[in-house]
Amino acid sequence: AKKNSFERHNYYLPYMEQETQRRLHIVRMLRADFADRRLQVWYQPQICLTTQRIIGVESLLRWPQRDGSYISPGEFIPLAEYSGLIVDIGAWVIEEACQQIRQFDELGLPELRVAVNVSVPQFRMRDFPELVEQQLQNHNVSPDRLELEITESIVMEDPDLVADILYRLKRQGIHVAIDDFGVGFSSLSYLQKLPLDRIKIDKTFVHNSNEDSGRIIIETIVNMAHRLGLSVLAEGVELEEQVSYFKNLEVAEAQGFHFAKPMPAAKLAELLAKQSAN
Ligand code: C2E
Ligand code: CA
Ligand code: CA
Ligand code: CA
Repeated sequence: AKKNSFERHNYYLPYMEQETQRRLHIVRMLRADFADRRLQVWYQPQICLTTQRIIGVESLLRWPQRDGSYISPGEFIPLAEYSGLIVDIGAWVIEEACQQIRQFDELGLPELRVAVNVSVPQFRMRDFPELVEQQLQNHNVSPDRLELEITESIVMEDPDLVADILYRLKRQGIHVAIDDFGVGFSSLSYLQKLPLDRIKIDKTFVHNSNEDSGRIIIETIVNMAHRLGLSVLAEGVELEEQVSYFKNLEVAEAQGFHFAKPMPAAKLAELLAKQSAN
């Protein structure tokens, strides 16, 4: 394994050592809790802005602690990536998503798309597309019900590899969205070259949509996406005025606390049952 700079130099400061110890501790706990099946997948609704109905959900990992609190994925996902644990955890999240789709179908709930976040190490694994295909088949789930969310960092790492993998996923009918769009400062040429379905506008832009500077960026992204034939979803929508703003821009979908926070599968099932009763 490649040594990181901490291991190469023996003169690091004590506080750095403390921080390293803390991280190693978290990785050990995460590995143990994952093995004990203590991790959970929660789901956050994605809303069609025309019909106001739930048309998809995003899967979001939750790591419950003994005291009832949760360690935020923003904290443990980078460590899971660094340690390689994300490969197994990520495969499990995809499997959970497939199982969930199957279960909702059996309950006669509306057909949702389920989005899953994919990290760089997962994506770089050999045969990632076949692994996903296998899981879809095992649970008898149609590929067009699954959406993978990848970030610009994945695309920039190795554009040729990414193109190859995306075409293999696409051939199966799996959807692909670019997550956190706009924060990567990356080249935009890949948008034209890759078989993508959707762009998710990062919430930092959405939260600036009350300012001219924020609007300029959002409207440029939306215009470009639409002209390239890509669907757009606004992330982190918290306010009614943001909803009407994005509706006016003909943005198809939104996700955020204004509509619903991430919730356990059982709660989502209740919500969906209520929606289909209306
Ligand atoms: P993300 O993929 O950008 O996910 C959206 C994050 O925004 C979620 O944070 C969600 O709870 C939060 N969010 C949703 N609506 C709002 C809103 O209206 N306002 C605000 N302020 N926040 C909102 P969460 O669940 O803490 O996840 C953080 C990040 O952890 C995710 O960001 C994603 O990068 C990563 N993550 C979570 N689950 C997974 C997973 O299964 N695999 C991988 N690779 N990464 C994951
Ligand atoms: Ca995401
Ligand atoms: Ca995001
Ligand atoms: Ca993010």
